[in-house]
Amino acid sequence: MESAARVFARLSTDEPITNTDVLMGKAVVLGGSLAGMLAARVLSDHAESVVIVERDALPGTAAPRPGTPHDGQLHTLMHGGRMQLRRLFPGFEDEARAGGAIISSPYTIRAYADGVPKVSDGTMGLISSSRPFLESLVRRRTLDLPNVKVLTCRARGLEFRAGAVTGVRCGADGDEWTEEADFVVDAMGRASKLGDWLERDGWQRPAMRRMAIDIDYATGYFRRADADPELAAAIAYRTPTATPPRVASGAITAIEGDRWLITLANYGKQPPIRDVAEFRKLCGELPPVYREAVAGDQLGEILPYHQADSRRRDFHLLTRFPARLISVGDAVASFNPIYGQGMSSATLHASALSEYLRSRPDLDAPARRFLALQRVVVDAAWQISTSADLARPDVTGPYPRGYRLSKWFAEQIAAASITDRSVAVRFNSVTYMRTHPRSLAAPSTLLRALRVNRSQGKPQREKG
Ligand SMILES: Cc1cc2nc3c(=O)[nH]c(=O)nc-3n(C[C@H](O)[C@H](O)[C@H](O)COP(=O)(O)OP(=O)(O)OC[C@H]3O[C@@H](n4cnc5c(N)ncnc54)[C@H](O)[C@@H]3O)c2cc1C
Repeated sequence: MESAARVFARLSTDEPITNTDVLMGKAVVLGGSLAGMLAARVLSDHAESVVIVERDALPGTAAPRPGTPHDGQLHTLMHGGRMQLRRLFPGFEDEARAGGAIISSPYTIRAYADGVPKVSDGTMGLISSSRPFLESLVRRRTLDLPNVKVLTCRARGLEFRAGAVTGVRCGADGDEWTEEADFVVDAMGRASKLGDWLERDGWQRPAMRRMAIDIDYATGYFRRADADPELAAAIAYRTPTATPPRVASGAITAIEGDRWLITLANYGKQPPIRDVAEFRKLCGELPPVYREAVAGDQLGEILPYHQADSRRRDFHLLTRFPARLISVGDAVASFNPIYGQGMSSATLHASALSEYLRSRPDLDAPARRFLALQRVVVDAAWQISTSADLARPDVTGPYPRGYRLSKWFAEQIAAASITDRSVAVRFNSVTYMRTHPRSLAAPSTLLRALRVNRSQGKPQREKG
């Protein structure tokens, strides 16, 4: 059997997509956010027409909307996701840059562990923009495709015949109708109702795994004086302690419109940070770049956001699943947002869909091959997100088998990545979703990390 690391390497390739055949008449995608648009882009290679069913009237510009209440919060696109956007939409980064996004080089990203500056890996960058900006660019590129269109209505259920999905029940303005479909993709986000619909129609509901994380975000926008900043993004985090700190992690990103977008995150049911004076004061306790970023004018309100859990729906475990149906994006797995994996995961689900469809599958059988490919991506992101959260004293499991050993192992690699560039490259490649976590299990990586940690004095905090 092919290893998960090899599958991940194939899905995360940036090779252009070739050998596409039309396999179906009409594909219907439920949800027109990031994962839905990316799935529609892939389906446009294989369907005569693609219809995206979205309950929000999608704006023509980079504007927030009710269906994505998290869109005002800080979002960065990891290197792995960035490579897939380049692959799916040639010229994407030039367009993003022209619109004001900051395409960061590794040297314009700073990271701090307990106030200590981490060495740059020198290889990986991010796209820094607001989430509505990124989504609107993906949306425009997808809707420019001649065979893709949006239908503004709510999806309410599915129609089935002979073990396969044949249509989607839709409703808008008091009307209800069925949108016929040869293939359906659920991209309705973490609150997707697909499980309810399947159960209602006599199918199995996928089991949901949850890990309580109780994270609170507070996000502020500030005027940035420098149009071409030397700093594009920063992340500062603190080692978990028995009493959760007021700021467990702080992130900054330069975004379009010469603004800083800054998020402070904490855990453990603390009162939300809503007041700008408190926000500025807390930034002052982080490395100096945070204080500098909040020095400009504040724009708008401080936006709070709470996420109770990381969750995944294990479609691959279902023994009975209809043909011509899959789920992608947060509808399958949604993680602690602090690790910035969601959008990159959605790009890799799109890559899995492309590989599945390019294999010319029998569409009248359940999409098991797609589920197997997607599982590799979900397992990888879940492992990173949940193993970091399990290190927090306020998170109480569930602990996987072999947890203590893997915790010790991860601590060695993470500690060495603070000062050693070679370990940082391997570590960031996994956390930036370029390579599979198993790549860190190479004995040479652990030996190097142990050597670095043994020879190292205590790293120094940056002076404010
Ligand atoms: C606070 C926060 C910060 C984050 N930060 C990052 C980050 O830095 N980097 C990163 O990569 N990811 C981040 N994420 C995760 C990222 O936002 C998601 O992974 C990403 O948005 C995936 O989107 P999606 O398309 O799967 O779902 P969503 O964006 O939730 O979209 C679901 C869509 O489905 C539509 N819909 C739902 N039900 C129906 C229906 N019945 N009929 C029609 N339409 C329907 C909704 O209107 C919506 O448009 C963050 C998430 C949060 C909450």
